[in-house]
Amino acid sequence: MKCAQGGSFSDGELQRFGNIELNPSAGVLNYGQGLFEGMKAYRKQDGNILLFRPEENASRMRLGAERMCMPSPTIDQFVEAVKATVLANKRWVPPPGKGSLYIRPLLMGSGAVLGLAPAPEYTFLIYVSPVGNYFKEGVAPINLIVEHELHRATPGGTGGVKTIGNYAAVLKAQSAAKAKGYSDVLYLDCVHKKYLEEVSSCNIFVVKGDVISTPSIKGTILPGITRKSIIDVARNQGFQVEERAVDVDELLEADEVFCTGTAVVVSPVGSITYQDKRVSYGESGFGAVSQKLYSVLTRLQMGLIEDKMDWTVELNPA
Ligand code: PMP
Repeated sequence: MKCAQGGSFSDGELQRFGNIELNPSAGVLNYGQGLFEGMKAYRKQDGNILLFRPEENASRMRLGAERMCMPSPTIDQFVEAVKATVLANKRWVPPPGKGSLYIRPLLMGSGAVLGLAPAPEYTFLIYVSPVGNYFKEGVAPINLIVEHELHRATPGGTGGVKTIGNYAAVLKAQSAAKAKGYSDVLYLDCVHKKYLEEVSSCNIFVVKGDVISTPSIKGTILPGITRKSIIDVARNQGFQVEERAVDVDELLEADEVFCTGTAVVVSPVGSITYQDKRVSYGESGFGAVSQKLYSVLTRLQMGLIEDKMDWTVELNPA
């Protein structure tokens, strides 16, 4: 779908996957006007396909578009385009229990612009790919390292929206961490340099007793849809959930730590390296809390338990 600055998107069309043409002075290439979403479709036992809260991705993209001076598809246009793309690629949705179809909606300034300004034209497209687990550890615990020098986001910046530049900004710390054998990086806030923010591509939760804490949303972390869902699931399961500033020192006392995201689902954290300390949280598997939450969320997403929240959207590929 295409749209002029200040205009609105009209309905799009399905195209075979392949390279796209862009003007060298396209806004996205020169000034980073790009936003994306990440979603997954799961195959149910009966062959139908389930999407998880697609309207949440649509509204997050709309909020991001507002921050990046871009027009965006309506919630309906976004969700209908996702459904059409998944149905057109139904043969790529893996069988139950064998992974999922990752869905990547992308909105970009495709019009040519030389002086710094919003692009005159925008393109919204969606592509898909079958995927398995995000971390090479699978659903086994991941090992994080706290980053003390580099930051992912600043107050007033774009850390709270899913814009492409945020991901370029994490590559350096992430590559260094991976080269040292860690799975990913845990970022701290850039003002006090002591409050947890998030991991390169997922949100973080810290468990102490019956209380689950997670950094509050205040513009520097991505408001994860899995995060929001896990907060509701945990409360329904009787846990107390606090959204607040979480001090990095709390990692030393925590019983369990886990990450959430569309790609990582719920991933237990096995260890966190913080300054010269390595804190370990059961490196052999899930902790009791993350196991419970993982189990409820994934069974919901795969249609194995009743969806009382009305979070899933069912597609019949027949
Ligand atoms: N934080 C960042 C930086 C992310 O890229 C993601 C993945 N979209 C998340 C958190 C988790 O968000 P969600 O649960 O919506 O996938």
